[in-house]
Amino acid sequence: SKAKLFDENDNMRVTFKDVAGLEGAKEEVEEIVDFLKNPKKYTKLGGKIPKGALLVGPPGTGKTLLAKAVAGEAKVPFFSLSGSDFVEMFVGVGASRVRDLFRQAKEKSPAIIFIDEIDAIGRARGKNNITGSNDERENTLNQLLTEMDGFATDTSVIVLAATNRADVLDQALMRPGRFDRSIYVDLPDLNERKEIFKVHLKPLKLDQDLDIDFLARQTPGFSGADIANVCNEAALIAARKGRESVGKQDFLDSVDRIIGGLEKKNKVIK
Ligand code: ATP
Repeated sequence: SKAKLFDENDNMRVTFKDVAGLEGAKEEVEEIVDFLKNPKKYTKLGGKIPKGALLVGPPGTGKTLLAKAVAGEAKVPFFSLSGSDFVEMFVGVGASRVRDLFRQAKEKSPAIIFIDEIDAIGRARGKNNITGSNDERENTLNQLLTEMDGFATDTSVIVLAATNRADVLDQALMRPGRFDRSIYVDLPDLNERKEIFKVHLKPLKLDQDLDIDFLARQTPGFSGADIANVCNEAALIAARKGRESVGKQDFLDSVDRIIGGLEKKNKVIK
């Protein structure tokens, strides 16, 4: 289970090229890449390198991808864990996992630590406590805060955390010296969807006349993850029909199927 949590990314090949669109967010994280590559450039003028940044945005918009790309561009190791891994953990385990994670990252520094779904551990304390004790979650959160306060600003470990619920986060997380910057990762607009399609169409064998602009127009509201899904599903649909390449109708069928899935996911259960 340790291996799963501390999955030190052995593929450092994710770079900004793999992240389509998100120009604003990429620009902001480029600064973090430079902090990791040239910390002295900043510290020699007395500047403190930021310790953490929040990546805020809807599910599937590329927050994890972007965090991996930061590590890939800076050529530093990527340590990750997900807030949801801590749900239902025995008392004390969460905090010690956090401690281990920071110890490992500091040993290998410069490094990126990525915490996905930070809201699962970083929700405001004392709220939504109707199900009983939230002690373990609080312990984990407190350990995270302690670790972030504990390491010197020249350690060159930068913690990126992703959430789609910035509104529920404990304000203590956003204090100076912790996650004091937020980077917004939004759903893609038409042009960005085109760029994302280009990335995910690359491995497919396509009909010659396939119109990427048309595909982008069929998918308003889709995230990057949804688009990746559409492309893969279209290839499977075409293959099932015994076709030699993937065409417009396969994509339309795939989009239909994905929309069906999204509707199910979003259905409010009363
Ligand atoms: P979640 O909040 O659900 O964890 P996320 O924002 O971290 O989602 P990712 O896990 O980074 O999203 O995205 C899932 C997959 O969707 C990526 O591995 C990639 O294949 C695709 N994808 C998402 N956004 C982009 C993008 N901007 N460019 C290219 N591919 C993307």
